[in-house]
Amino acid sequence: MKALPANIVIVGGGTAGWMSACYLARAVELARQQHPSKQQPVNITLLESADISTVGVGEGSTPYLRHFFDYLGVDENTWMQTCSATYKMGISFENWNNADVDNSYFHPFFSALDIPTADQYFDAVNQRRRGINTDVNPSHYFTAAQMVEDGILPNTLSTATHIDYAYHFDAGQLGDFLKQYAKAKGVKHHIGTIASVHADAQTIHAVQLEDGQQLQAELFVDCSGFRGLLGKQAQKRVFKSYSDTLFNDAAVAIASPVLPSPEAKLQTRSIGLEHGWQWEIPLTSRTGNGYVYSTQFCSSSDAEAELRQVLGEQVNDSEARHLRMQVGRLEEHWQGNCVCIGLSQGFIEPLEATALMLVQYALHHFVDCWQADHPHKYQQYNVEMNRMFDGIRDYIAAHYYLNTRTDTAYWQACRHDIKVPDTLAYLLKEWDSGANFETALNQVDSKLVYLRPSWYCIFAGMQRFSSPLSSMASPNEKALYAMKASLSGALSK
Ligand SMILES: Cc1cc2nc3c(=O)[nH]c(=O)nc-3n(C[C@H](O)[C@H](O)[C@H](O)COP(=O)(O)OP(=O)(O)OC[C@H]3O[C@@H](n4cnc5c(N)ncnc54)[C@H](O)[C@@H]3O)c2cc1C
Repeated sequence: MKALPANIVIVGGGTAGWMSACYLARAVELARQQHPSKQQPVNITLLESADISTVGVGEGSTPYLRHFFDYLGVDENTWMQTCSATYKMGISFENWNNADVDNSYFHPFFSALDIPTADQYFDAVNQRRRGINTDVNPSHYFTAAQMVEDGILPNTLSTATHIDYAYHFDAGQLGDFLKQYAKAKGVKHHIGTIASVHADAQTIHAVQLEDGQQLQAELFVDCSGFRGLLGKQAQKRVFKSYSDTLFNDAAVAIASPVLPSPEAKLQTRSIGLEHGWQWEIPLTSRTGNGYVYSTQFCSSSDAEAELRQVLGEQVNDSEARHLRMQVGRLEEHWQGNCVCIGLSQGFIEPLEATALMLVQYALHHFVDCWQADHPHKYQQYNVEMNRMFDGIRDYIAAHYYLNTRTDTAYWQACRHDIKVPDTLAYLLKEWDSGANFETALNQVDSKLVYLRPSWYCIFAGMQRFSSPLSSMASPNEKALYAMKASLSGALSK
């Protein structure tokens, strides 16, 4: 196992920077425990500017975040309490279709409890594709949806029950929590603003601070956010934009008072608005709201006005925070002595809350590649990171392409004008033609990040069926019964 470099500088103190600091410090600690004789001391410094703020959003996760805290050895209750966190069982999509069809569905996280009913769901959906009026509402088949309906917290299930769940949290508090953890593990915190970067295409030699100091390192981790100071700017790495597929490039966030029993909400709401979608994230201290939209179709003041109208008087005194987003990714995430992590390496809009999952995956994969020290480690790393980004982009793009809204030019453009990525185009073709969808999914398996249940849920949830039916099918009582039985079994243990 190759030891991590003796001097590491992380540029940026946003969530990506502090997650990197925690992860690397922990990796050093674990390596030292496993191979005490082979490990040298490692100095990790995190540099952040007091004048350039962090992006300050990013409050929903995927289930993968649980592994991050497990890796750090941090108990869930400890960090959740400090970060006003709540559990999340999935995302409710509302108003992504015209009101004349069933225009809401739930995208659940899946678990072992779902195994008996998931197959019934796939069968029902495939029957519905053939024109048979079956119940294709994912909420009637997947445990996570029932937990949301009944307000059942995942930590009340038997510990032996494998259930996937994620979190909502306050981004600022999470940053502070991670900072404390990293500092306790010996990470040095340096406040300063980079004025210039001494670099060539392969190597970052040093970062020059405005106060005249210079920082050198064997490894630089670029967590400088959308600026991408080291990789994108100094080394001119190629950025592949997704803007022809994903039109949203801005957001406005406004907090509102805490919801009643926020801990029992258990879901992010994603609600279609005129030129994008609104998020609602329940925290124990407040509610996070935002509107993700496209500036091609809507000005920032119109977006703020629309969001304020939806949220009503409760936000009259709340400030709005406006953000611009660059969607896309670097072609090379790791090159020479610099790895880019977080917004500096790329971003896919926050619809499925995947950004911190990518940060975590990037760190995990980087440490693995570094320690294994394979001769093609850079290539391996970059190919895998690109696969992850593109695979997530494909699934996010499906939400827009499948919408049936006719009320604004924005929604019509999302259907007609987006460049449909190849994998999504293939799945759409197979789905629409009535071909065996299992075979289609297997065919592109290596490119998928979202797996079978998610693809069935989105196609069925968005009502992508060629033969319209005059009435809704009644709920599948057999599946509902089986799902509730497995849930109550898990509760009673
Ligand atoms: C609207 C929106 C909603 C989002 N929602 C989610 C979500 O629900 N779930 C999710 O997982 N992710 C979400 N994200 C993404 C998430 O917010 C980011 O991935 C996360 O916050 C990490 O950001 P970062 O640390 O890469 O960058 P930033 O937070 O921008 O941090 C950049 C850091 O670099 C430093 N810096 C910059 N320039 C210099 C300089 N010259 N010298 C020194 N330091 C410098 C800054 O001081 C700062 O500390 C969302 C993003 C947006 C835009």
